[in-house]
Amino acid sequence: MTHSEQPDDQQQVRTCEKCSQVMVRLGEIRRSLQSTMCVYRCYNCNNVVVELK
Ligand SMILES: [Zn+2]
Repeated sequence: MTHSEQPDDQQQVRTCEKCSQVMVRLGEIRRSLQSTMCVYRCYNCNNVVVELK
């Protein structure tokens, strides 16, 4: 993917901070009723990010 504008209909897209490629959301981990963590992975450089929602 080269330069592309952010699509409106795509939700929860995250950009890799290492290589700027789009990361794929692998899933969510529910830790409690109010806290859910999202797991993202970059298939370009294998960077994995866990983000608190
Ligand atoms: Zn990356």
